[in-house]
Amino acid sequence: MTTAHMPDTSSCAQPIHVDVLIVGGGFGGMYAVHKFKQLGLSLQAFEAGSDLGGVWYWNRYPGARVDLPSIDYSYSFSSEIEQEWNWSEQYAGQPELLRYIDFVATRLDLRRHYRFNTRIRRAEWDDVQQLWSLTSEAGDVYQAPFCIMATGPLSIPKQPEFGGLEHFTGRLLHAARWPHEPVDFSGQRVGVVGTGSTGIQIVQEVGRQARELFVFQRTPSFTMPMRNTPLEPAYLAEVKRHYAGIRDVARSSPIGGVRPQSTRAFFSVTLAQRQALLEDAWKHGGLAMLGTFGDLMINEEANEQVADFVRSKIAEVVTDPAIADKLKPRGYPIFARRPCLDTDYYETYNLPHVHLVDCLQTPILSATEGGIRTAAGEFPLDALILATGYDGLTGALLALDVVGRKGCTLREKWQHGPRSHLGIMLAGFPNLFMTTGPNGPAALANIIRMSENDVDWIANAIMHLRAHDLGSMEPTHQTENEWMELVQALARHSLINKAKTWWVGSNIAGKPQGLTQFVGGFAKYREHCAAAAAHGYAGHHLEPRHQPAAAVAA
Ligand code: NAP
Repeated sequence: MTTAHMPDTSSCAQPIHVDVLIVGGGFGGMYAVHKFKQLGLSLQAFEAGSDLGGVWYWNRYPGARVDLPSIDYSYSFSSEIEQEWNWSEQYAGQPELLRYIDFVATRLDLRRHYRFNTRIRRAEWDDVQQLWSLTSEAGDVYQAPFCIMATGPLSIPKQPEFGGLEHFTGRLLHAARWPHEPVDFSGQRVGVVGTGSTGIQIVQEVGRQARELFVFQRTPSFTMPMRNTPLEPAYLAEVKRHYAGIRDVARSSPIGGVRPQSTRAFFSVTLAQRQALLEDAWKHGGLAMLGTFGDLMINEEANEQVADFVRSKIAEVVTDPAIADKLKPRGYPIFARRPCLDTDYYETYNLPHVHLVDCLQTPILSATEGGIRTAAGEFPLDALILATGYDGLTGALLALDVVGRKGCTLREKWQHGPRSHLGIMLAGFPNLFMTTGPNGPAALANIIRMSENDVDWIANAIMHLRAHDLGSMEPTHQTENEWMELVQALARHSLINKAKTWWVGSNIAGKPQGLTQFVGGFAKYREHCAAAAAHGYAGHHLEPRHQPAAAVAA
C-alpha cells in the first residue's frame, strides 16, 4: 500500500464547487470516481479512513477473507485490470484484497480525487440553487448538483449491549476497527464475543495462537467448509481468456455471481439423490449447498432437512457431544442468517485450550477489569475481541444529518424503516444517489457487481439530466411506493424473516424490523433498473435547471 494520507485539518473559507460529490472509498466509491472521471465531470470524493478499501481497509482482523471466489469478487469494468491482475487464492485474504484495491487505485489514479481522514457529517439539499452541500467534521463545505453516497452496508460497527468495557484493563479490539500493525496473541488468554462470519474467521485463526481462547457464543451460525485452494497459472490464464463470458453469467444470475443456482425443488428428487447432492456440495465447499435446490428459502421443510444435514456434520467433527450440541444452530432456517464459510472452525473446538461459553444459557453480564462476567462466573482475559457486527444497511446513512426537500430529514423519512426506489434514489431527496442501498439486493448479491450496476445507472441518469439541461431528478412518491410494495411482497415469502439478524435490523435495539432487501435476484433487479431509466426516466420527477449552468459553476 502507499503511505497513509494526511488528515484533513484545513478549514475552507469558501465552499468548493464540483459536479459530483462521492462519499466512501470502498468498491462502490472507487468505481464512481473512475466513472465520473471518464465522463469528464469534476468531482470530489471523501473517505473517513486514511486510504481506500472500505470494509477491507477497516477489517484487518486475523483470518479476514472474502467468501466469494476472488475471480468473481473483482471489478469487471476494465478488461485491462482483469488481464493484469493475478489472484493467488480461490478466496482471497484481506491483505491480498487490499493489494488489489491499491493496484486498481494506482492504475486508475483514483487517490488524488479523495480527501482521506475526512468524515462527512451533514448533507443538505438547496432547492433554489439545486445543489447538495456536504459539511465535513472539520467544518469544510463542498457543493455539487449531484451527491453519491457509497457508504456501504457494513460501515458502522455495533457495540455490544453489555457494559463495563471501559473498565477492562486488557487489550480491547473490535474486528471492524482493527489496528494496522499485527497483533500477537501468543501466550494470552483471549475472549471472542460473536460467532457470525467475522467471529468464526477469528476463532479458527486465534485458536491456533492463543494460550487459551474463550468463545462467547449467543446464536450459533451455520458454517460450511470453504475449501480454499491456490490458483494455478494455467487456470488463471483460462479465466482471463473467458472473463467476458464469466461476467455475463454473473450479471444474469440471481446472486450476481458465478455460483450455480439450481431451480430443482428439494422434494422433486428421491431421498438418496438429495443426500448425494448435499454430500457433493459439502465436498465441493464454498456456498455450493445454497445453490443445490431452488426452494430452500421458501420451503420450510426442505430448509430444515438441509439444516439437519449440516448439524450432522458438526456432530461428526466435534469430539465432545455436549460441545457439538451447543454449536448446532436451531430455531431459525439455514441461510436465513448469512451462511459462513470456514477452514477447520469446528475442529478448533477439539483443541484442549479452546472453550465454548454458551451465552444463551449464561448471558454475558458485563465486562470487568479482568475479563468477562457471565451468569456462570468470571472469565479472566488478557485480550477481548468484539466480533459483534454492524448497524447494517442504514447505519452509515443515518449517522449523517441528511436533509432533503423542504427540510425533511432522512431520519424522519426512515423512522419506520428505510424507503427508497431500487436502493438507489429517495423521493424527496433530489439528485442524491446511493450505491447498494436498502431495498436493493444489498447483502444478497455480489456487492461489486451491484456497485458497478448502481454506479452505471447513476451515471446514465446524471448524463441524461445534463444532456437535457435539467436541474434535478427524484423518484415520485408513487414510484417509490410501488417499488416498496414489490420489495415487501417478495420479502413476505422469504424464510429470511424467520431469523434475528442484521439483515432484518434485529441486532440493533430500537431499529425498525423487517427485511428491506430485494429478494427477487440480481438479474431481475437489473431489469427493474433498466425499466426505471426507460422513456426518459418516466416515474421520476424531473425539474428544469433553475439557473444557467455557468451561474451554478461560478
Ligand atoms: P453478525 O453476523 O451480525 O454477528 C455478530 C455476532 O455477535 C452474532 O453472533 C451476535 O449474536 C453476536 N453478539 C452481538 N452482541 C452480543 C452480545 N452482547 N453477547 C453475545 N454475542 C453478541 O456480524 P459479523 O460476523 O461481523 O458479520 C456481518 C456481515 O459481514 C456478514 O453477514 C457478512 O455479510 C459480512 N462478512 C463477510 C465476511 C466474508 O466475506 N468472509 C467475513 C466477515 C463478515 P446474536 O446473533 O445472538 O445477536
